[in-house]
Amino acid sequence: MTPKQPASAELSSITPDDMAFDRDHIWHPYTSVTHPTPVFPVESAHGARIRLADGRELVDGMASWWSAVHGYNHPQMNAAAHAQIDRFSHVMFGGLTHKPAIELCRKLVEMTPEPLQTVFLADSGSVSVEISIKMAVQYWRCRDDERRSKLLTIRNGYHGDTIGAMAVCDPVNGMHSLFRGIMLEHVFVDSPECRFEDEWDERYIEEFACTLKEHHRDLVGVIMEPVVQGAGGMRFYSPHYLRRVSELCKEYGILLILDEIATGFGRTGKLFACEHAGIVPDIMTVGKALTGGYMTMAAVICSEHVSKTICDRSAMMHGPTFMGNPLACSVACASLDIIATGEWQEQVANLEAGMKEGLEPCRDMAAVADVRVLGGIGVVELKQPVDMQVIQPRLVEEGVWVRPFGKLLYLLPPYVISKEELSFLCAAICRVVEELSSPEQV
Ligand code: PMP
Repeated sequence: MTPKQPASAELSSITPDDMAFDRDHIWHPYTSVTHPTPVFPVESAHGARIRLADGRELVDGMASWWSAVHGYNHPQMNAAAHAQIDRFSHVMFGGLTHKPAIELCRKLVEMTPEPLQTVFLADSGSVSVEISIKMAVQYWRCRDDERRSKLLTIRNGYHGDTIGAMAVCDPVNGMHSLFRGIMLEHVFVDSPECRFEDEWDERYIEEFACTLKEHHRDLVGVIMEPVVQGAGGMRFYSPHYLRRVSELCKEYGILLILDEIATGFGRTGKLFACEHAGIVPDIMTVGKALTGGYMTMAAVICSEHVSKTICDRSAMMHGPTFMGNPLACSVACASLDIIATGEWQEQVANLEAGMKEGLEPCRDMAAVADVRVLGGIGVVELKQPVDMQVIQPRLVEEGVWVRPFGKLLYLLPPYVISKEELSFLCAAICRVVEELSSPEQV
């Protein structure tokens, strides 16, 4: 009998039929199936290169949305996945435990700053944000404070796409209007005006301080991305702002949740972005680079004070089917072993230097509003939003994989990208932005 489905060996080759099926039946992120934007079939990926089915090779500027920091097809990560799949790929975590999860949590406790001691493994970044919120809610309920139900956060944030996480994303670019009526309403202040390098002025924290003073009795916590606001605008704000937030949270006894999902494991030049401010949150979420982009997994790490307060009276009420998935844990252990070599420090410093130099020509181009680089993050902010139907194929034609959104062309290359590949990437961006700056375009 001929099998109806292709054998798994055939999964590597994409046919025109497959592409038609993809177009007509598959939703890609933030897209329409009736008016799809172009998608490009990938045949393989290696290091900082993505190979398309037609043989073209693209230099990767995205690290698959901050995750593939060690590059694709990494021998040590592959070996970890192979070794674990031959032992067992999954067992439930309720009532059972295993070495990959224990090792991963041990590494997370060792790597994160001192008071963070207890780990909850989650299936994705958004889910870890949900868990961090539930943790903060349970913390207060276990202190017999039932009144608190809100979070305070800053505008232009991004914390994920599930309903609870969306409610703390920026109300405008987080699409709150589309989901009005079904999301909790939290307390927002404007995002910090002070850029990363700006000299500190106490006025920058005034709105936050006043709002905290007014609402602190209703709050379960403050949630924000430390120093870098990612998908909500790729903004870098002063670590001093974060330091003041932490001080104010302590003053009012409010839990501080820091979302290090994008920034964690070296991307900003520090192992965790909160280190720029010399502070530690009560609850931290990590994801993305945790598994080096191999599998979906995230984690919530909290202080012993938080976990003890909850557990002396109750238990942490969350427990998904794939919690602590051993395959993902094994791969995450390998990813953190690579991080622990410390190689990332030089790699990220090189990324910063290379992007500062390589993107600088964009600064004076007519279409450009700002160019900024921090650690392994490079941003060219345009004056007008890009047309994805046009710019995406144009970037592919240049031999690079970069996925802009709105007015932002940004780079987060894998840490392993070579100097030559990075120059190639930046030069391609400069050429495309130059075209956007030509008199007919502006
Ligand atoms: N928080 C931040 C800061 C993020 O950048 C992201 C992902 N872009 C998330 C949360 C959500 O993670 P995930 O996409 O894995 O659900």
